Amino acid sequence: MSALDSLPIAVIGAGPVGLAAAAHLHERDLPCIVLEAGETAGAAVRQWGHVRVFSPWRYNIDPAARRILDEAGWVAPDLEALPTGAELVGEYLRPLAELPQLKPYVRYGARVEAISRLGLDRLRTAGRDSTPFLIRLADGDELLARAVIDASGTWGTPNVLGASGLPAQGEADVAAYLEHALPDVVGAHRDRFAGRHTLVVGAGHSAANTLLALAELAAEQPGTEVTWAIRTASPARTYGGGDADALPARGALGSRLRAHVDAGRIRLLTGFSVHALTPTDGRVTVVVRHADGSEESVTVDRIVAATGFRPDHSIAAELRLDLDPIMGATRALAPLIDPNEHSCGTVPPHGVNELAHPETGYYAVGMKSYGRAPTFLMATGYEQVRSVVAALAGDWAAAHDVQLDLPETGVCNSNPADSATGDSCCAPAPTAEPAARGLATGITGGLLSEPLSLIALDTAPADGQAGGCCGS
Ligand SMILES: Cc1cc2nc3c(=O)[nH]c(=O)nc-3n(C[C@H](O)[C@H](O)[C@H](O)COP(=O)(O)OP(=O)(O)OC[C@H]3O[C@@H](n4cnc5c(N)ncnc54)[C@H](O)[C@@H]3O)c2cc1C
Repeated sequence: MSALDSLPIAVIGAGPVGLAAAAHLHERDLPCIVLEAGETAGAAVRQWGHVRVFSPWRYNIDPAARRILDEAGWVAPDLEALPTGAELVGEYLRPLAELPQLKPYVRYGARVEAISRLGLDRLRTAGRDSTPFLIRLADGDELLARAVIDASGTWGTPNVLGASGLPAQGEADVAAYLEHALPDVVGAHRDRFAGRHTLVVGAGHSAANTLLALAELAAEQPGTEVTWAIRTASPARTYGGGDADALPARGALGSRLRAHVDAGRIRLLTGFSVHALTPTDGRVTVVVRHADGSEESVTVDRIVAATGFRPDHSIAAELRLDLDPIMGATRALAPLIDPNEHSCGTVPPHGVNELAHPETGYYAVGMKSYGRAPTFLMATGYEQVRSVVAALAGDWAAAHDVQLDLPETGVCNSNPADSATGDSCCAPAPTAEPAARGLATGITGGLLSEPLSLIALDTAPADGQAGGCCGS
């Protein structure tokens, strides 16, 4: 055994996927250390603990974790039930992290700030693969590791409000009025919303959940107002397939949202591209720039930014990553999960081959592995870490034998009428979509296929920028 092999494998994050990695490492007898920024297992999931997930328990429990939990006499929940985030933590992640096989190796309050190779910067090649990883924590402590499984998720790095992917003008100045996605509107955070006007920006699950909670609060608390802003011209994709939706919980969510909008309890603003934000007499004014260049504004008390998440690759800036320029996932994985192309989680099985970077021994897994794609499922992450850990154990046959058993969701597009129009700029003639092999955690999957109203330029485009539909 080399000196490198005697070092532990570092797992970053004690979320569902990081803890699953630890369970697989335990089964393979590979020493590990789990570094978790929060004070508990599932620290990110706890923050959306009031939200019920869409995949039943059977898909949310990692097989290796299940085996060691069962050995300890764990009583599994009803496998067909849909847990809340809090139940996911209380009934699964916390008991798992408390097992004697894992507990001594999970370190809380350990935020990874940077990863490199001991004594080597990104430029140096000689001896790189046999040099330990150096992991620096936020408190300055440093550790050495044989390999790194980065399961740090994306919860800590939400997307900005600005329509161009950059912060809207003034966004940093109004931080006091901004809420992270999925505040507990009718629970712990009620006081921040009761009797106030809230703007929810976004068109995915997070926005839908928050809007329904705000509508519930508005029914109880006079003076509570709710406005919903989306960038597209229609909320059809957020509404999903209603009763016809192959995922009943998702269909019900969309139907309830539509009922509130139709009844005027939620005011809907479409074609809404946030341009600027300014504090105004204890409130915040949101300036919207329309396709014709005109501006409009709405003044509210609070803004919930439900605009999705992006991975933070900065901790691995000294490593050799090969990231897809669009998705921020590995190049091999990106086309399999691209939400520009995929209507739902039609994710083929994938593992160590698709997750490998030029930096031998570093793997981003779980939610982070999907980069900006919003369609990640825990079940996918569990198979990822099974494959990666098998590879680290030298069991390449098992590492390459990737399988994926995801929830059946019937048709991919939750609103077939919507796809039948095929009227988007440059869209090919609509074709029948393949049956799904997974479900999108974004409300529709294919959510980027909805055309946006683009900001008009005042002047004619310069040579070479002639646009029009399809650049023809
Ligand atoms: C509201 C919501 C509903 C969802 N519903 C479903 C569903 O129904 N089914 C499904 O399969 N998936 C669902 N997902 C998607 C996904 O499965 C979950 O987000 C899941 O928690 C991802 O697991 P993870 O372990 O990759 O990341 P996380 O759960 O985000 O865990 C990452 C961990 O890393 C820690 N961390 C972050 N940065 C650092 C650092 N620098 N150093 C050390 N530790 C760090 C965090 O504190 C956290 O504990 C849902 C997601 C959300 C937000």
